[in-house]
Amino acid sequence: MRTPFIVGNWKMNLTLEEVDSFLDQITNKLPDSNQVECAIAASPIFLETLTKYCKNSPLKSSAENCFYKDKGAYTGEVSPYALSEMGVNYVMLGHSERRKYFNETNKTVNKKLKAVLQNHMIPIICCDETMTKQKTDDHMDWVVNPVAESLNGVSSKDAQNVVIGYEPSWAIGTGKSASVSETQEACCLIRKTIAELYDEKVASKVRILYGGSVNDKNVQELMQQKDVDGVLAGTASLKPKEFLKIVNYSK
Ligand code: PEP
Repeated sequence: MRTPFIVGNWKMNLTLEEVDSFLDQITNKLPDSNQVECAIAASPIFLETLTKYCKNSPLKSSAENCFYKDKGAYTGEVSPYALSEMGVNYVMLGHSERRKYFNETNKTVNKKLKAVLQNHMIPIICCDETMTKQKTDDHMDWVVNPVAESLNGVSSKDAQNVVIGYEPSWAIGTGKSASVSETQEACCLIRKTIAELYDEKVASKVRILYGGSVNDKNVQELMQQKDVDGVLAGTASLKPKEFLKIVNYSK
C-alpha cells in the first residue's frame, strides 16, 4: 500500500511573517499522516522554522534543491548534510524551474540524489516530457531518459523509497493542468520504467506524483487514478485555506 502524498512547493514566495501565519493556520487541520502524508518544500531560509514546526505536526519538510557535496568551497550552495542535520525529510530535485534557469540536468540530479540518500533524506525527482532529446514514435518514451539517468547507480533498496513527480512544464503555474488520462498514462509509464530498471516489487513501492496547476477542484479526480499516488501543488500551496482543501481532498 502506497500512502498518498501531497507536497506543497512554496518556491521563492512568502515572507517569514507569512510562513509563521501559514503554519499557524494549518495547525490541527492536517490529515492523519497514515492516511495522507503532507509536506511543504521551502527555501533554505524558512527550513529551520519549518522543521521546528514539523516536530509537533504530521507535516513533513522538504528542501527545494541541494548541492551534491556535503561541505567545501561551494559559495552559495546548500549542503545536504546540513539539511539532514536540521531534520529535513525530503529534497526536491530537478524541478523544471531548476532545469530552465540553473541548467540542472539528469546527470546533476543523479549526483544530488545520491547525496540526499547518503544523508538519509528522501529525494523527490521531478521530470516531464521536455527533459529528453530522445524522440521516438511513442510520444511517451520521453520518460525513460530522465528516470533512468536520475537513478543511475542507485540500488533497489534505495530506489523503492524515491518519490517521482510528473510535472509537465507547460502545466506549471499556467492554470492549465494535464488531463486526468494524460496524467495516468504518464504516471503508469514512469512505473513501468521503474519495473524495467529494477523489478515489479520496487515499482509497486515507488510513489509517483502529478504536479501542474493542481487545485481543490481537480485534486480528487487526479488522486483516483491508479498510478497517481499524490500531487505537487505550487500556486495552490501558498494560501493555507487552499492547501488544506487539497490535503483534505478525501473528506
Ligand atoms: C510546481 O511548480 O511544482 C507546481 C506544481 O506549480 P503549480 O501548482 O503552480 O502549477
